[in-house]
Amino acid sequence: MPEYKAPLRDIDFVLNDVLNAEKHYQDLPDCEEATPDMVSAIIEEGAKFAERVLSPLNQIGDQQGCQWNDGQVTTPEGFKEAYQQYVESGWPSLAHEEQYGGQGLPESLGLVLNELVGTANWSWSMYPGLSHGAMNTLDAHGTEEQKQTYLTQLISGNWTGTMCLTEPHCGTDLGMLRTKAEPQADGSYKVSGTKIFISAGEHDMAENIVHIVLARLPDAPAGTKGISLFIVPKHLPESLTESNGVSCGSLEHKMGIHGNSTCVMNFDEATGYLIGPPNKGLNCMFTFMNTARLGTALQGLAHAEWGFQNSLTYAKDRLQMRALNGPAHPDKPADPIIVHPEVRKMLLTQKAFAEGGRALIYYCAQLVDKAKAHEGEEKEKADALLAFLTPIAKAFLTEVGFESANHGLQIYGGHGFIAEWGMEQNVRDSRISMLYEGTTQIQAIDLLGRKVLMTQGEALKGFTKILHKFCQAEIDNEALAKYVKPLVELNKEWGEITMQIGMKAMQNRDEVGAASVDYLMYSGYVVLGYMWALMAKTAQEKIDSGASDDFYQAKLKTADFYFNRILPRTRSLVETMKSGSDSLMSLEEDHFVF
Ligand SMILES: Cc1cc2nc3c(=O)[nH]c(=O)nc-3n(C[C@H](O)[C@H](O)[C@H](O)COP(=O)(O)OP(=O)(O)OC[C@H]3O[C@@H](n4cnc5c(N)ncnc54)[C@H](O)[C@@H]3O)c2cc1C
Repeated sequence: MPEYKAPLRDIDFVLNDVLNAEKHYQDLPDCEEATPDMVSAIIEEGAKFAERVLSPLNQIGDQQGCQWNDGQVTTPEGFKEAYQQYVESGWPSLAHEEQYGGQGLPESLGLVLNELVGTANWSWSMYPGLSHGAMNTLDAHGTEEQKQTYLTQLISGNWTGTMCLTEPHCGTDLGMLRTKAEPQADGSYKVSGTKIFISAGEHDMAENIVHIVLARLPDAPAGTKGISLFIVPKHLPESLTESNGVSCGSLEHKMGIHGNSTCVMNFDEATGYLIGPPNKGLNCMFTFMNTARLGTALQGLAHAEWGFQNSLTYAKDRLQMRALNGPAHPDKPADPIIVHPEVRKMLLTQKAFAEGGRALIYYCAQLVDKAKAHEGEEKEKADALLAFLTPIAKAFLTEVGFESANHGLQIYGGHGFIAEWGMEQNVRDSRISMLYEGTTQIQAIDLLGRKVLMTQGEALKGFTKILHKFCQAEIDNEALAKYVKPLVELNKEWGEITMQIGMKAMQNRDEVGAASVDYLMYSGYVVLGYMWALMAKTAQEKIDSGASDDFYQAKLKTADFYFNRILPRTRSLVETMKSGSDSLMSLEEDHFVF
C-alpha cells in the first residue's frame, strides 16, 4: 500500500534556512501573526490532515472515480467527508482577506498547505484548488457586493468555485470562444453555451458552485479583445434549491485524476453577473494566472515527491541481484536494489527534482507575497521576476515531475505496472499537469516570445543579475566552486543564446517557436541549478557551524548529483536550439506521408 509522509524536515529547511521565511513575513505588512511558531503549527496540522485523511483516499479515488447520474455527480467514497473536515478546520480561509472571513495569512503559506494536500491526493486537492482560483479572481476584480455575496461563501468553504474557459473547439486559442452573455434590464446577463473539461464543475461536496465563466457580449469585437468574465452560480444565492440553468451534461472518461470530476457544463440562459470591465475578461484572468500556474507547478513537485518516497522504500526492500563490487548484504539472498547505480540514478533524479522544485516554488511564492503586499517599484520588481519564472516553474516542473513519476514506476519493475502499488496511478495522474493551465508548448512560447524577446531580454536580465550577484559573492568560496563555476558559464551562455535566437527571429518568426521548448527546459535546468546552489550553500554553512546531521550531507551529495548528472542536459539543449527551424519546417505539409 503506497504511503505519503509530509517532508517536514525539508519544508522547514527550504522555508526557514534557505529562504528566511521569518524575515520575509516580518517585512510584509499585516503579517505579524505569521510567527515561526504559528507557521510551523499550521504546517504540522496540514501534514496530519494530508497524511491521515487524504492519503488513504488517493487510491480509492482512482479506483472508484466520480459517478454521473442524471446531471448529479457523486465523488468517491470519503471525499465529501474529507472536504467537510477541511472546511471545519478553516483551511479554505487561510490565505484570504480577513474582511471577507479569511485569516489574512500570506499566500506563500497557503502554497505549503497546497503542497501537502496535493501530494497526498492530487484529485481531491483540485476541488479546493479551483475554488482558490475563483476567490482570487473575485478578490481582484469583483464589486463589493459580489465579494460579500460570493467571496465570503467561497472563503468559508460552504461553496466551491470553477474556472470555465475551454470550449469544444477552443482550448489554447480562447479568442474563438462562443459562449454568449445577453444583457438584461436588471443589470444581470443570460449566459448560454457549452464548456468542456471543467474541473470540479459538478460534485456533491458543497451546497453551491460558483462558476467563473468567459463569454462574449453581443456587440463584442472578435478575438481575445471581445471576451468578458462572469460569475454564474449553480444556484442563485436567494434560492439554493432552484436550478439557475447550469447543468452537467456528462463526465469525461480520462487517463488519470479519476477522483476529480471533469465536466461538460451546459449554460442555458443561466443568470450571470459581469466581473470587471466588459471585453477585459482575459486581462482579468491574467492577474491571477501566475498563482494558478504556480498551483499547477506544484503538481510536478507533488508527483516527484510522492514517487520518490514510495520508490525509496521499495528500493531498500526489494532484493534482486548482487552489487557489482560484491555482496553488500551477504546475510541476505540478494542485495536490495538501491545498491545498483542505475536505480540510484533514478532515485536521485526524483530527489533532485522534488527538493529543487520545492525551493523554486517557495521562492516564487515569496514573490507572490511581495507583489501583493507592496506598491511601486518593489511590486513591479516582484511582478516582473514572477512573470519570468512562472512559465518556467509551470512547464519545467511538470515535465520533470512526470519524468520522476515514470522513474518511480521503473524502480518497481513489473510491479510498477500493477495497480495495487500505486506507481502507475502516479504516472497517469501526473500527465495532465503538462496540458492544463497552458501546455508546455504554450508556456515555452510565452517565455521566449512574450517574456524574453518582447522585453528585449529585460525579463531575462532581471533573473541573470540575481544569479550573477550570487556567483560574484561566492566566487572565492572553495566549497561552492563546483556549483558556482558552471553557473557563471551558463548565465553567460543563456544571454548569448537568447541573442542568437532573437537575431534569427527578426528574419523568421518560426525560429522562436522552433527553439521555445528547448529554451524553456534549458532555463529550467539553470534556474534549478541556482536553487541547488542556494541549498548547498546553506547546508555547507550548517556543517561549518558544527551541525553533524546527515540531512545536510545528503543535501550536498544531491547538489553534486544535480550538477554532475542533470545540469549537463543543457549541452544537448544548446545544440538543438542552435539547429534552428529548417529541419522542422522544410517538410511540406502534404509530404508528411505514411
Ligand atoms: C482533466 C482536464 C482538466 C481541465 N480543467 C479545466 C478547467 O477546469 N477549466 C478549463 O477552462 N479548462 C480545463 N481544461 C482544459 C485545458 O486547459 C485544455 O485542454 C488546454 O488548455 C489545451 O487546450 P486543448 O485541449 O483545446 O488543446 P489545443 O489547444 O487544441 O492544442 C493541441 C496541441 O497543439 C499545441 N498548440 C496549440 N497552439 C500552439 C502554438 N501556438 N504553438 C505550439 N503548439 C501549439 C498544444 O500545445 C497541444 O499540444 C482541462 C483539461 C483536462 C484534460
